[in-house]
Amino acid sequence: MSRERQCSGSKADGSPCGAVPQLVNADGLCPAHRPGGRREMSERGRKGGRANKRAAGLDPSELPPLTSHADAQSWLETIGRAVASGRLPERQAQAAIRAVAEWVRAEGERAAVEVLDELRAEIDELKSSLASGSIRAI
Ligand SMILES: [Zn+2]
Repeated sequence: MSRERQCSGSKADGSPCGAVPQLVNADGLCPAHRPGGRREMSERGRKGGRANKRAAGLDPSELPPLTSHADAQSWLETIGRAVASGRLPERQAQAAIRAVAEWVRAEGERAAVEVLDELRAEIDELKSSLASGSIRAI
């Protein structure tokens, strides 16, 4: 029996199995990792569980593009429903809510700048009108 023989399976933390070489068969697997073995089964279940968790959450198609405050409200409602129903993990929900809040903040700034630009343009227009005498100062 080769002393180099090692089980090709891995432990729950991803490190090599480390089963004593005497336990490893010609197929390169220890009893626990052999098809149908205890560890193989539990790892398969664990991986499946992880995959399912990763798949959970919101489908991007459920969220409209964020272009208005109504869209932001729609996002929050969808996120709220998904959390309440257990479909969206709280961590992801918090991240999504932060993203909405950040959008609302940025949109507020953008709108404020837009209003200022409009006011500035109106003032310039009034000034030039006054200068040309087309309207009289009140
Ligand atoms: Zn093993």
